[in-house]
Amino acid sequence: MKQYHQHYIDGQWMQPSGDQICEVINPASGQVAGSILFADTQDVDRAVASAKQALISYSQSSVEERIAIFESLIAVYTARIDDMAAAITEEMGAPYAFLAQPAQATAGLAHLSNMLEVLREFPFEQERKSASGQINRIVREPVGVCALITPWNWPMNQIACKVAPALAAGCTMVLKPSEVAPFSAHVFAEIMHEAGVPAGVFNLIDGNGAVAGSALTAHPDIDMISFTGSTRAGKAIAHVAADSVKGLALELGGKSANIILDDCDLSSAVTAGVLQMMHNTGQTCTAPSRMLVPANRLAEVEAIAAAACAQVVPGDPLDAATTMGPLASPMQFEKVNSLINAGVKEGAKLIAGGAERPDGISAGCYVKPTVFSGVTNDMTIAREEIFGPVLSILTYQDEEEAIAIANDSDYGLAAYVSSADPERARKIARRLQAGQVKINGAAGDFSLPFGGYKQSGIGREWGAWGLEEYLETKALIG
Ligand code: NAD
Repeated sequence: MKQYHQHYIDGQWMQPSGDQICEVINPASGQVAGSILFADTQDVDRAVASAKQALISYSQSSVEERIAIFESLIAVYTARIDDMAAAITEEMGAPYAFLAQPAQATAGLAHLSNMLEVLREFPFEQERKSASGQINRIVREPVGVCALITPWNWPMNQIACKVAPALAAGCTMVLKPSEVAPFSAHVFAEIMHEAGVPAGVFNLIDGNGAVAGSALTAHPDIDMISFTGSTRAGKAIAHVAADSVKGLALELGGKSANIILDDCDLSSAVTAGVLQMMHNTGQTCTAPSRMLVPANRLAEVEAIAAAACAQVVPGDPLDAATTMGPLASPMQFEKVNSLINAGVKEGAKLIAGGAERPDGISAGCYVKPTVFSGVTNDMTIAREEIFGPVLSILTYQDEEEAIAIANDSDYGLAAYVSSADPERARKIARRLQAGQVKINGAAGDFSLPFGGYKQSGIGREWGAWGLEEYLETKALIG
């Protein structure tokens, strides 16, 4: 049983003044796996004061000094990667061998390594000659003290894609990870400490959104907020940020369209789309949750999708054969089951899965990999982010209709297009309102910008675009 009852502030583990204990549930067993102590407003003040004090010197650190910190951090993270993966499996149920180790924990390392490369090249200062011949300078400076608030679904990916650019920019920070999945954040703080990150530059507090999250985002000494999570919380945070005109980056939900064109190999495109939907038990903001297929090929698509679903192996995240673990929490379990029931009630056709646990599993937050066909874009399951292993199949008559359905969403995080002709796919991709469009299942790349159109967010993470979010721009004239 893990007891993480201290917060990491000013380079030390400290007893918080908040005394509310929060149990952390292992979603595979449904049993308590450990506990954290929630921060109260005094703890938030203490963490922000530590970051504010550290900013005085860290904001003046040289790029070489920050490169040395990254090199040390990457070495320590690499040595602790198995601990990190184990923490993620325990807190949110990602299968250890299939997902937590090779993808979840590794994503954190990839963001750190990628930011190190950006840091080596980034133009923090550039000269510009005015018409009169005067030499002026454009200086990129750290934005200041940052509040970093993260969710539970890809916990270390999201922490790293905020901490890495903040650290590279010369900012100091207070991280408040999800109360649902806090273990990996504690392992990360241990890594930061061992790597020799200067005291106060990185601070970790545990807490919920209502008290710690709200106090942090409203704090007068916070200069910038970077938040990943639900659109509901993102909107609330944007209101709070507006009161003191703080910098704001939001990475919110998604309802991504996967357009499968009539010329492609249906078997591989549909199978890949189904398996990608079920990856991480559907708890990925970029999940291709609306599959758009030609109306005259629907029967073939349904058969392929049902067969692909049968390839998914739900089960114990510690079993090496498992490819789909439980949902991350009892609350998510309730939410996903109620949305599956909404799909049935609104008349969608269930072609795989449904609102019960998979066969042979009687406890834990498990749901069946589920596919609905006959979905129309006005149904709840096509509009709301389910954040579970639930795919909706919709049909289109022609390309124009496919594009219109894809763009008819409050969200705009990602999209997918498959075609035998990549140029045809790219032409459609250019018309989709989404921050990333993947063509023919291309591999992802952490050096490319990531973020949303519309209600999927504001700003971009990853690579040089991520770093830009944590920088102010100053004109030094003369
Ligand atoms: P959530 O919004 O409930 O919580 C996210 C974090 O915000 C947690 O740390 C929580 O304590 C905190 N929080 C909640 N309300 C707050 C408030 N008013 N002020 C300050 N902090 C607050 O989301 P969740 O349930 O943890 O995560 C699931 C959601 O996150 C999904 O909707 C998913 O799409 C979204 N998400 C988006 C991305 C992305 O990059 N776009 C990535 C992962 C998850």
